[in-house]
Amino acid sequence: MKLYSTSDKNNIVDLKEAVLNAMPRDKGLYMPFNIPRIDDDFYSSISSRTFAENSFIVAEKLIGDFIPRDELEAIVTDAINFPAPVVGISEGISTLELFHGPSLAFKDFGARFMSRTMSYFNRNEEDKLTILVATSGDTGGAVAAGFYDTPGIEVIILYPSGKVSDLQEKQLTTLGKNIYACEIDGTFDDCQALVKRAFLDDGLTEKYRLSSANSINIARLIPQSFYYFEAYKQVVEKNENIVFCIPSGNFGNLTAGLMASRMGLPVKHFIAATNINKVVPDYLDTGNYQPQESSPTISNAMDVGSPSNFSRMLDMFNKNHTEFKNEVKGFFATDEETEETMKEVYDQYRYILDPHGAIGYRASEEHRKSFPSDQVVFLETAHPGKFLPTVERVLEKKIDLPQALIDLQGKEKEATPLSNNYTDFKEYMISRAK
Ligand SMILES: *Cc1c(COP(=O)(O)O)cnc(C)c1O
Repeated sequence: MKLYSTSDKNNIVDLKEAVLNAMPRDKGLYMPFNIPRIDDDFYSSISSRTFAENSFIVAEKLIGDFIPRDELEAIVTDAINFPAPVVGISEGISTLELFHGPSLAFKDFGARFMSRTMSYFNRNEEDKLTILVATSGDTGGAVAAGFYDTPGIEVIILYPSGKVSDLQEKQLTTLGKNIYACEIDGTFDDCQALVKRAFLDDGLTEKYRLSSANSINIARLIPQSFYYFEAYKQVVEKNENIVFCIPSGNFGNLTAGLMASRMGLPVKHFIAATNINKVVPDYLDTGNYQPQESSPTISNAMDVGSPSNFSRMLDMFNKNHTEFKNEVKGFFATDEETEETMKEVYDQYRYILDPHGAIGYRASEEHRKSFPSDQVVFLETAHPGKFLPTVERVLEKKIDLPQALIDLQGKEKEATPLSNNYTDFKEYMISRAK
């Protein structure tokens, strides 16, 4: 698998470099040179294989011999060890539940696959690899769980004090072993700035081999394509016209869906569903792409004003607006509409949506008004229990937490409190390196 940078097609690297370095120096994003089609028999026999088996075929097709066959099979089988069921909600609308992994959000797929791939590429190195990651919520939990106990790799997570939910904080700070948390007295942007500065600091890079686990790493995108095949397998008997609806923030999920469709997955089209941070729906509408400051909403994992994967999507459509909007339809919902949908779906169908999934449901319903014969599958990106206060307030009832979240509540938090001043962070890094 060769990859190029979206800023410079002549900047070509192999998978190892793209995974370990995450971001090209020219500020583009790595993109596969070639997304190969899978033969038709794969699709006609898809139901006879497990999720992990199909995922391995997809991975092998994409990655080729950059990872030996048996190693890749072990990575995929170990990473994809929880289900992605499609659950019917109402006529023509079902949801692909992506929250059955350890941190209860779809980001587990990416984090688990990335940790195992990094570990493979790092296997012959003598020095430990240290991953720095700034999180505003869900990413940190998935990365912590994904890298937990991975040999040769440690993770330092920076999070803004008081600005992540209690459960999210517990997911970052209770694992121990090779996972360390720094509680920064500042904002998410401060955390991000500390991480960026550390990468450029010779004083640290001579003591550490540093890498990053942020959402633009190609090793997070590859496994996110797997579950589109798994969803297709579960609904293909019902209908030929399959539409995927994706609640989106940085658009990693949608980019992975587009990769699956380039590999031949029969998808009629995609719906890009956002909250009021709607720069992509606006672009689809007008052809004008205007990144903005993000505004806070109840679907906060999608509060993104300048989506990092936009340049990848543009490249997939040869920067052509017409091609783009023929395959991807835009939709957005306000908080009020999101809450209304959460209530309606619970009252009518007894299905509890989280705020992100609720936007997916609303977009699906809207789509079926114009295309009543389509089968719409929207992605439920996180378990509603992760957004407990909002869900309980909107539904006006207590909801049951999954066991994994109940277990977390009793655990002790361990984090190093730091100011948002770079000198303090550097001192912490130097002192722990000894
Ligand atoms: C990260 C996240 C999203 C946004 O996914 P993108 O791939 O960045 O578009 C949506 N919902 C939840 C719950 C998330 O954690």
